[in-house]
Amino acid sequence: MDGNAPIRTQYFHPASNPARKQASCAADLTNTIIGGGIGGASASHFLTELSNGNLEIDLYEAKRIGGRLATVNIGNREPEAGGAVIHPKNMYMQRFVKLLGLEHNDSSDTKHLFGIWNGDKFVFKESSYSAITLLRILYRYSFQVFKLKRDTNDMVDNFAKIYKLQDAGKSFENVTALVSAMNKEFPNQMQVSMKDYLLHMGYTERLIDEVAKATVVVNYGQGTDIQSFVGSVSLAGAGYDLWSVKGGNKKVPEQLIYRNKNVNVVQSRVIKIRYIADNDESEQYEVTYINKDSMDLMTAKYDIVIIAAPLTSDQEFPIEFINFPKKLEFPGHYQTTYATFLKADIKPKYFGLHESLDDIFSCDPNKTIISSIGKVGFANGSSIWKIFSRESLEPDLIQKMFSNVDEKMTVVWKAYPHYSSNTPHVNFKLHNALYHVNAIEWAASAMEMSAIGGRNVAILAYNDFLQKHGLMSYEETLKDIPIILHNELR
Ligand SMILES: Cc1cc2nc3c(=O)[nH]c(=O)nc-3n(C[C@H](O)[C@H](O)[C@H](O)COP(=O)(O)OP(=O)(O)OC[C@H]3O[C@@H](n4cnc5c(N)ncnc54)[C@H](O)[C@@H]3O)c2cc1C
Repeated sequence: MDGNAPIRTQYFHPASNPARKQASCAADLTNTIIGGGIGGASASHFLTELSNGNLEIDLYEAKRIGGRLATVNIGNREPEAGGAVIHPKNMYMQRFVKLLGLEHNDSSDTKHLFGIWNGDKFVFKESSYSAITLLRILYRYSFQVFKLKRDTNDMVDNFAKIYKLQDAGKSFENVTALVSAMNKEFPNQMQVSMKDYLLHMGYTERLIDEVAKATVVVNYGQGTDIQSFVGSVSLAGAGYDLWSVKGGNKKVPEQLIYRNKNVNVVQSRVIKIRYIADNDESEQYEVTYINKDSMDLMTAKYDIVIIAAPLTSDQEFPIEFINFPKKLEFPGHYQTTYATFLKADIKPKYFGLHESLDDIFSCDPNKTIISSIGKVGFANGSSIWKIFSRESLEPDLIQKMFSNVDEKMTVVWKAYPHYSSNTPHVNFKLHNALYHVNAIEWAASAMEMSAIGGRNVAILAYNDFLQKHGLMSYEETLKDIPIILHNELR
């Protein structure tokens, strides 16, 4: 922020708003969550559940609840512009949808045909006859495709161990510890490129450079030099039985946040967090924020702070950390993805096709800036296309690929971390009672990952609360509760 900007300074504590519910005994600790995406929503949900609704939480959101879950309006349709598909074994997204009474999108519409395009030609094309598709798969990639599916399913099964651990009250101070609890091998996979890992597993270069790479290009806008844990998450996100939420995935964070009366949404951008330690007994954080409507600069003090937004220096709303005994560092940067929506007709000829495909996945980021092209609906005789690209789509490229362009809109995202095989060692616990949900994105960025990260920091924060009141940890408490009652508590 420009230090000379004409901003009035006021001192106001959102939790002191008289309209708010009377504080209960638990509310003598002040709590905040910064960020209203799925990660912040998950943290607010689980923290509310853990404390039986007795912890008051101020949730700051600079822009729009939902964050990277958002839809656009085009041709009377509302396609997903950010996080789109959910794996059937993503238990938290499933549980949230059930809890909120939401529905899965109807996926019974006509089958989509896809192809893998290297920027010059299609190296693989699906046929409308499944027997022909199968023969093409076997001819080009042999039975390795089925082995890849099995290995990916095994990874997903290991991944699912996190749910039992979190249900039992386990929490983790850093990302390495969390993925290690799923499988001891996972931290090693975060230090090896996807390509090297798959080569080591005996896969052919062709399968890696075409099939595996196409999933990484569409899901993360990157190549197979990304670390192999996120590579496996990307492969899992390429199945057929994926789903999304009817009316938009954003409904999950929106409804999860607003259903809890103890959560007070503050539509403001946080700019600073100052550590205040009077003596060894009293530690707090002073949060400075800009009120979205009045542009007033305000401050509030909290005992527990959860940050549920990326903190790399390239973010739209950076946060400054002041007065900490040790400098807090957030290495790396985020990959920019352009999501362009067109109501238009595709020109099959540009892609060397006689007939158009529904989904085109690029497998060579060096030959084309296009990561993927997908049909996301119809309107008045035209199709609606979603194009992911790593650079802005210039009008002449659009003209080459499409005709009858009726409507166009673009959303530019700082979409997910830019991965390499040198994954930084990142912490959920940044300092006493200061947590970071999005550390988890360095293992893999996905809705479910943020939901898991949100629950992890909620348990960590709740343990802080218990400790401050001289009580035993949440995990210890659960050990004393009979298993049936424990299940009912969830
Ligand atoms: C194009 C695209 C496609 C994707 N596809 C998929 C997919 O198919 N499946 C999948 O599972 N995932 C997908 N993802 C990833 C998924 O969307 C994200 O991992 C997830 O939504 C991140 O949620 P979050 O809550 O952690 O972060 P965010 O959604 O980024 O939420 C952070 C929130 O914090 C707010 N904020 C930031 N700074 C401040 C501040 N200083 N003060 C106050 N508020 C602040 C932001 O405005 C934002 O609302 C995709 C992402 C993109 C961009």
